[in-house]
Amino acid sequence: MTKLEEMIQRAGTIAVLGHVNPDGDCIGSCLAVYNYIKDQYPQKQTAVYLEAADQKFSYLRGFEEIRGQWEGEAADLCVCVDCSDRERLGPFVSCLDQAAESVCVDHHVTNEGYAGENIIEPAASSTCEVLFYQFEEERISKAAAECLYTGIIHDTGVFKYSNTTSRTMEAAGRLMAKGIPFSDIIDDSFYRKTYLQSQILGRALLESISFLDKRCIFSVVRRKDMDFYGVDKNDLGGIVEQLRIIEGVECAIFLYETAPHTYKVSMRSNRIVDVSRIAAYFGGGGHIRAAGCTMSGSIHDVINNLSLHIEKQLRESEHV
Ligand code: 5GP
Ligand code: MN
Repeated sequence: MTKLEEMIQRAGTIAVLGHVNPDGDCIGSCLAVYNYIKDQYPQKQTAVYLEAADQKFSYLRGFEEIRGQWEGEAADLCVCVDCSDRERLGPFVSCLDQAAESVCVDHHVTNEGYAGENIIEPAASSTCEVLFYQFEEERISKAAAECLYTGIIHDTGVFKYSNTTSRTMEAAGRLMAKGIPFSDIIDDSFYRKTYLQSQILGRALLESISFLDKRCIFSVVRRKDMDFYGVDKNDLGGIVEQLRIIEGVECAIFLYETAPHTYKVSMRSNRIVDVSRIAAYFGGGGHIRAAGCTMSGSIHDVINNLSLHIEKQLRESEHV
């Protein structure tokens, strides 16, 4: 029996937490843990606490039961998934602090292990992949399988990013064998865009600017653009990915304004730049080819600061 299962068995009340700005792997991981516990141990009191999640994930069982606020009641066990550090738990960090026991399941290289027990596998594509191998396979229900599969496709860009391994495909294949509607999951949660989401993507591509000899590209969406199109941060997913696949680009940066002179930064790289190092330097984190942070200053300052680090890494790579 895995450590995670042992801890779940010991607990009567369980709180499941993910990170702020929850993405597919985060929501998939939280609901996979939730459904796995509900299926195996229906007598346990289990709840998922997350910031408002994108409605496109509402096909996942338990989505409607996600709570946006913690009532302040200490749980026997707090399970933190896909969250690289305490700060990224946002307002729910006190739920972790007050729980009798805690466990973190994650795949971020920058995770230093902030919970009581830490199951961190930086080589795994996604937290959902880590969870698949933590759960007993025959006890994974179709509903839990849909959650795990969702997380895996989101963090691998549908099995395309360099974090995808044969072990990832093995997990995905065994999840498919549970009879999940995998084509619908991929289209509905990954590729489908609303008209407005497509418009803002088009605008971001149109206004993108390349630098460092066209090896880098960036684009920004300002608050006023978001207001004009009537979109929020959940509508901006996938923009940095489109920038990354532009021919000749090594490093792509996407910014959106969260407050005056404050920008959420998403970075992607293809072969050379370790963007997690740059994000960590500016107080964020992530993975070698996909990372993020929040920076303040003018757009010019933000890009200049990032550019210095990217240029340094590109130069170093030429000298080895
Ligand atoms: P994205 O660019 O899609 O928001 O994030 C890419 C990766 O970087 C994800 O694994 C995400 O968890 C991580 N990440 C993004 N922003 C932050 C941040 O502000 N802090 C930390 N620690 N990680 C981040
Ligand atoms: Mn993840």
